[in-house]
Amino acid sequence: MSNFPACPTCQSEYTYEDGDNYVCPDCAHEWPRQAAEAAGESVRVYKDAAGNILQDGDTVTVIKDLKPKGSGGVIKQGTKVKNIRLVDSDHDIDCKIDGFGAMSLKSEFVRKV
Ligand SMILES: [Zn+2]
Repeated sequence: MSNFPACPTCQSEYTYEDGDNYVCPDCAHEWPRQAAEAAGESVRVYKDAAGNILQDGDTVTVIKDLKPKGSGGVIKQGTKVKNIRLVDSDHDIDCKIDGFGAMSLKSEFVRKV
């Protein structure tokens, strides 16, 4: 019924425009229209270091040693990361890594298994 993007929070399709924002009537989420349009809204393709397309639930390995901020540890090259979740941000992979807990990684530093 409209060309508005689905709500990024609850996936409702009943979103509408309100000034410079999109608004979701189901969960009251509001987000800026321009940012959504600039980001390409749901057409983003996530690729690993080798250009393979990544999807939620994929297993990847880390291709270089990473030092997560504040942890003091190092995620070693070759560390396997299961069940990744893709998110629309600079660090575009949410995941859990044994010994580190919840982490955010960049897709350019992983390779799909
Ligand atoms: Zn919503």
